[in-house]
Amino acid sequence: MNARTIPVVIVGAGPTGLTAASLLGRHGIECLVLERWPSVYPQPRAVHLDDEVYRILGLVGLAEQFDAISWPCHGLRLVDRSMRILAEFRRHAGRGRHGYPEANMFDQPELEGLLRTNLRRHNTVTLRSNVEVSAVTQDGSGPVRVDLIDRISGQPETVHAEYVLGCDGANSLTRTAIGSTIRNLGFEQRWLVLDIATTAALGEWEGVHQVCDPQRAGTYMRVGKTRYRWEFRLAPGETAESYREVDALHRLIAPWTKQIPADDLELLRIAEYTFRAQIASRWRDRRVFLLGDAAHLTPPFIGQGMGAGLRDAANLTWKLAAVLDRTLPETVLDSYEAERKPHATALIRLAKLIGAAMTEGGEAGNLLRGVLAPRLHLVPGLRARILSSQTPALRRSALVERPALRRGLAGTLCPNAVLDDGRRYDDIAAGSFAVITAAEPTEAQRAHIKQRGAVLLTARPGTELHHWLRRGRARAAVVRPDGTVLRSGRDLARLCATLPAFGRAHTG
Ligand SMILES: Cc1cc2nc3c(=O)[nH]c(=O)nc-3n(C[C@H](O)[C@H](O)[C@H](O)COP(=O)(O)OP(=O)(O)OC[C@H]3O[C@@H](n4cnc5c(N)ncnc54)[C@H](O)[C@@H]3O)c2cc1C
Repeated sequence: MNARTIPVVIVGAGPTGLTAASLLGRHGIECLVLERWPSVYPQPRAVHLDDEVYRILGLVGLAEQFDAISWPCHGLRLVDRSMRILAEFRRHAGRGRHGYPEANMFDQPELEGLLRTNLRRHNTVTLRSNVEVSAVTQDGSGPVRVDLIDRISGQPETVHAEYVLGCDGANSLTRTAIGSTIRNLGFEQRWLVLDIATTAALGEWEGVHQVCDPQRAGTYMRVGKTRYRWEFRLAPGETAESYREVDALHRLIAPWTKQIPADDLELLRIAEYTFRAQIASRWRDRRVFLLGDAAHLTPPFIGQGMGAGLRDAANLTWKLAAVLDRTLPETVLDSYEAERKPHATALIRLAKLIGAAMTEGGEAGNLLRGVLAPRLHLVPGLRARILSSQTPALRRSALVERPALRRGLAGTLCPNAVLDDGRRYDDIAAGSFAVITAAEPTEAQRAHIKQRGAVLLTARPGTELHHWLRRGRARAAVVRPDGTVLRSGRDLARLCATLPAFGRAHTG
């Protein structure tokens, strides 16, 4: 690599790119983030994230700040047009297995503001706004060339990077540059999205209401102390313009606002979006990767699209840091798409299912709403996802070792358990490898784990981690820096022997 090559260039400073930059900064990796706009994109989009994704915000150091701008939510209800409950998926508003509420409401521009400010913690991270990336090219095994145009001066420039992360959203230039195509998963609908502020009490259930009605599917949720979000499917010929008039808008939201006078409701934002279910054919070409909306689009019915981008960032960045530090071989980067693509696809399919229950007409729709929706929790595989916020385990890869036919802990997230001293798992182990063991390690094993840069946690009987190991039929587990279990088993000596070396000192 030539001397002026930057280790990582990130295209796009949306939530995915900003999270990836913070995580790389935490590992001391130099990176340059290139963003077209001068500041945060102000339109209303994501309002929900789960406790698994909250942990990623904790990892970048934003747990407290996010707590101050978010609102725990009680879950999701499917209701019919007369607000009769068809199905209900409850979430704990208190601290769950990951140490945070299972469902959290917030405002995406506010979160992006926090993520931007957070970059200042890391002197290895530079955010450059007002630049349009115009080309990403690579030949052979040399550095990647990134062409850009300074939007203020109009000057073209070129930078070179060892790796490029395309976090440039749904219309990703990086995706086109690596010859990846979009696979349509069969969902496309136009929806109206509006945010309203009011100090009046709506007195509604404090969860997401999904109105299942082929005539006018809709979503209602409280997203803050005085802020509410509604989303409605647009009929053919309707646009956001059709609802600029107060009367038309109020007819839509009246089932929730009831007698509250129009003067007490302040329309903050109204926009039209097309909800899509899509996945990129491939997420990597040699030294260029796709993350976030550049790699996948999820209809927002289960609030997982942005979360998928943060999961991508958490999955890839520690591997990239280890490859750049030469502590892991470059082949580990193959595990990124192998692990993330099936996970993202599973959540897109779940979102599509909820979308179909809300909008499908005819007999098929009636069957989904009347018969299937109330019984979704009985469907094997869906049960865990519906009864808790837990998402599917990652598939087998070089960094998720599990026997083909046996379920174990590998690929699942280790709980952010409370430890003996009152701290939680993430307080001491997030960002590092960890060995969790119910068996007392020998002095030699202790020394080996320390020498590999990993954290050792002994799970005493009666503790949360001990229960977790037992439920997973294991005596010990190796957990990766992103909290995913690499392997579990009964033989601590064997687990220790294959523990990878990882990490320089964290800077965050
Ligand atoms: C109505 C709605 C509701 C939603 N609700 C939820 C929800 O509740 N929960 C959830 O998890 N998700 C939700 N989502 C999805 C979520 O908003 C997106 O998944 C998320 O914004 C994707 O983040 P990203 O960083 O991958 O892409 P983006 O947010 O699109 O960011 C991409 C960035 O790249 C920049 N960029 C692009 N091209 C270039 C270029 N050539 N040069 C320089 N910069 C470039 C862009 O300016 C932008 O800043 C919702 C979406 C919508 C529309």
